[in-house]
Amino acid sequence: MWLRLILFGVIAVVVYRAFGGKVPILDREEKSNDELSGDTLVECATCGTYVTIKESITIGSKHYCSKECLPD
Ligand SMILES: [Zn+2]
Repeated sequence: MWLRLILFGVIAVVVYRAFGGKVPILDREEKSNDELSGDTLVECATCGTYVTIKESITIGSKHYCSKECLPD
């Protein structure tokens, strides 16, 4: 039975490594993860308003302050 536990553990590690140990939707730049904390200010790509990362809407590499500023 412990063989099954080992197999499960190996699968868990493989899945963990596949996702880089973090949530993949947040961003692709792993090294900037430290500086891009929740309080980092980013500029809205549409109106130029500065909002914190956690309040902004991020699409690709661009940030938007609200749904009104999202591109269609
Ligand atoms: Zn905006």
